Amino acid sequence: MNDPARFDAIVIGAGAAGMMCAALAGQRGRRVLLIEHYRIVGEKIRISGGGRCNFTNIHASAANYLSANPDFCRSALARFTPRDFIAMVERHGIPWHEKKLGQLFCDTSSQPIIDMLQRECDRGGVTWWQPCSVSGTGRDGDAFVVHTSRGEARAGSLVVATGGLSVPKIGATAFGYEVAKQFGLSVVPPRPALVPLAFPPDLLARYGDLSGISIDAEVSCNGGRFRENLLFTHRGLSGPAILQISSYWDGGAPLRIDLVPSIDVARWLREGREGAARLDNRLATVLPKRFAQVFCEAHEAARPLREIRDDALVRVADALSNWCVVPSGTLGWNKAEVTIGGVDTRELSSKTMMATRAPGLYFVGEVVDVTGWLGGYNFQWAWASAHAAAQAL
Ligand SMILES: Cc1cc2nc3c(=O)[nH]c(=O)nc-3n(C[C@H](O)[C@H](O)[C@H](O)COP(=O)(O)OP(=O)(O)OC[C@H]3O[C@@H](n4cnc5c(N)ncnc54)[C@H](O)[C@@H]3O)c2cc1C
Repeated sequence: MNDPARFDAIVIGAGAAGMMCAALAGQRGRRVLLIEHYRIVGEKIRISGGGRCNFTNIHASAANYLSANPDFCRSALARFTPRDFIAMVERHGIPWHEKKLGQLFCDTSSQPIIDMLQRECDRGGVTWWQPCSVSGTGRDGDAFVVHTSRGEARAGSLVVATGGLSVPKIGATAFGYEVAKQFGLSVVPPRPALVPLAFPPDLLARYGDLSGISIDAEVSCNGGRFRENLLFTHRGLSGPAILQISSYWDGGAPLRIDLVPSIDVARWLREGREGAARLDNRLATVLPKRFAQVFCEAHEAARPLREIRDDALVRVADALSNWCVVPSGTLGWNKAEVTIGGVDTRELSSKTMMATRAPGLYFVGEVVDVTGWLGGYNFQWAWASAHAAAQAL
């Protein structure tokens, strides 16, 4: 009982989910060890939300998450809601505001959220080993044994909170997937999500110079549909609409992009024939001028509207409202905000996050195959899944 390396629970990964889980379990009287290999605490929280941490979304529900098992996240989300997290934020006196679409951000920076989680861990008497690398885990009778650069630690429960693969330079590893496989659990193949997409060479040659131009667009692919800003970059497309749809893009299917979602563009173009307006000038009244010019050059249509035949006008309208883009790829793990895929939820209890075939082994946060939309949903999953596990430890 007095062995300093013997705990009730060991949590590996002191990110959003790991700190929350350790804090809540500690506050329930559990003796918890939290292990983090990176030298800085909560680095992904720090860089999140453009430095102001979009810490939750008041509309979070199972409909905002992708998973091979879409109902899995329901129970945890229902038992720790955005209101519960807001209550914690307010207890710590952190000023926040709603930006848009239910997205809640810190007023100043992400740092108060990191400080809050650290203080909650202190309240729970959590022991921290950081920086501390983990070389392996195993079982010894009923106990989990974790081999680390600070020696061996043992506990009845092991919580894996090592996150996904995005932004490897600040500590992301595949450790969680390896532990899952070690204990016989399957892993849905991880791929980058909420990530900019690259143009194939022909589109890059045509639109690469439009970098920085943003358009209010509706983008759809594989059942996902988002109306937000689309941003041209020097490599392809980004902006919220593209980041959102990237999670639905499977590497092959085309994206359908409506660049003028508010208007019946064919009718509106025909109406323009009554004057002497050129197509590029008419388009420039609803789209950025540079885009209108490049688009018209590409479609050989930088002419007065009245000179454009009806079938050609229909083709132009279709190209604007149903632009079909097959990206050549994503910009990869360095640019992705999250990982889609992860520990297969069919192996976990939706109530506790415990692996059904490895009692005492838990997975929380992004390492699990539950991926939220852009807009605070991923942190809400981190908090809710951590809370679910902490109640069971
Ligand atoms: C640029 C960017 C901006 C984002 N903005 C937002 C946002 O505003 N809102 C939102 O909801 N989501 C946002 N996200 C996503 C969000 O940050 C993650 O979904 C969330 O942090 C996941 O929490 P987690 O605890 O599961 O993983 P993480 O927060 O990634 O924590 C995992 C921890 O485990 C540690 N670790 C990994 N491997 C090991 C190992 N082998 N040994 C020990 N420790 C290990 C890591 O160093 C890390 O500290 C953003 C992501 C990025 C990259």
